[in-house]
Amino acid sequence: MIFKDLGFEPQLQEGLDMMGFEKPTPIQEQAIPAILNNKDMIACAQTGTGKTAAFVLPILNKLCKGKTSKINTIIVSPTRELALQIDRQIEGFSYFTNATSFPIYGGGTGSDFDAQKNAIKNGSDILVCTPGRLLAHMKFNYFDASGVKHFILDEADRMLDMGFYDDIMDIAKKLPKERQNLMFSATMPPKIRKLASNILANPTTISLSISKPAAGITQKAYMVHDKQKIALTQHLLKGRDLNHVLIFCSTKKSVKELTRILIKANLSAHDIHSDLDQEEREKVLLDFKNKKVKILVATDILSRGIDIKGIELVINYEVPNDAEDYVHRIGRTARADRKGEAITFINGEQCLKFKQIEDLIERTLEKTPLPNGFEAAPAYITEKRNRVKKNFKKGHFKRNKHFKNKRKKS
Ligand code: AMP
Repeated sequence: MIFKDLGFEPQLQEGLDMMGFEKPTPIQEQAIPAILNNKDMIACAQTGTGKTAAFVLPILNKLCKGKTSKINTIIVSPTRELALQIDRQIEGFSYFTNATSFPIYGGGTGSDFDAQKNAIKNGSDILVCTPGRLLAHMKFNYFDASGVKHFILDEADRMLDMGFYDDIMDIAKKLPKERQNLMFSATMPPKIRKLASNILANPTTISLSISKPAAGITQKAYMVHDKQKIALTQHLLKGRDLNHVLIFCSTKKSVKELTRILIKANLSAHDIHSDLDQEEREKVLLDFKNKKVKILVATDILSRGIDIKGIELVINYEVPNDAEDYVHRIGRTARADRKGEAITFINGEQCLKFKQIEDLIERTLEKTPLPNGFEAAPAYITEKRNRVKKNFKKGHFKRNKHFKNKRKKS
């Protein structure tokens, strides 16, 4: 199938041609006809599959056929970065149409709020919002939701993880009952099904292979002690002319520390995490996109949805806490059929956590030996029994039992 088979309006097709989009991705092939048919939909698709265009294109096509002076579509996303990114994609696709969109997110200045208020008052066709700021505007009477025909939740599982369930339900209550609802989620845990049953009516379900990293990613793993990680990072970056490297750490502290060391070693690195304000975060992302900064060290703030073209290497400096996050993190590379490499550092304490990832992706990764000159790496032990035996030998159990008995007595 090619996009021309979908019969989009000429001005929208022109935008697609300009962007060099010829063939729809699988999620687009399945979702676009259903959305054009006004069906509610729940789609389970991993990031990097082209899901943004899957919901943006049919909405724009409908707007090409007829738009009003009122807000037509509300898209809700978990983070400001994602909202901005969706808004930019809309700008690209709608270049030759007369549809308008505006991002609505918190954290800016008073004049940002006023600009958002004006876009709302002027009836921007599409609002791309974070939940809190959208609700803040909805409280004022300038917010006219009476023309809203489409309600779209992107990264719904992430929004629930971030505690937005009540906000989403509050938003939904303020919208007209007659509307099309679309929900996109990378995973489908029971809480997502509950949200779906509260919001969607008789939805079409689309599910593309859940939780599998894209085929173009070469995945590697190293067993490594924490104290060896910096040297290993430097070894992996040395002599390679990489323009886009993303390193994920689990805490802001390790993000800052690693960045400091990489900069000291004359590498072009910058950190990104929630301590930076929105403007700083955007500047860092722009510098990274423009190759002014070649190594971005990040917390999981960047693990979902953020689309930066041409990331060649993702390093998991620590094993992510949640196995799903592994798929999201490494999904930053090899986007839309490109090739990429993902390397994970596993210390002795994180073997079980990594095993959960291997179970999720249904693949056991070979543990690459440390380069010459490195001290021995820890062993990859995933058998709980071994740990029990080891602890038993060390007498930990005896002592624990002793303490338990003492506690009972006291
Ligand atoms: P997403 O999963 O929506 O974040 O999209 C991932 C990347 O794939 C983005 O850079 C899109 O611009 C790109 N993309 C989406 N659909 C297509 C397509 N049909 N052809 C080429 N690139 C695409």
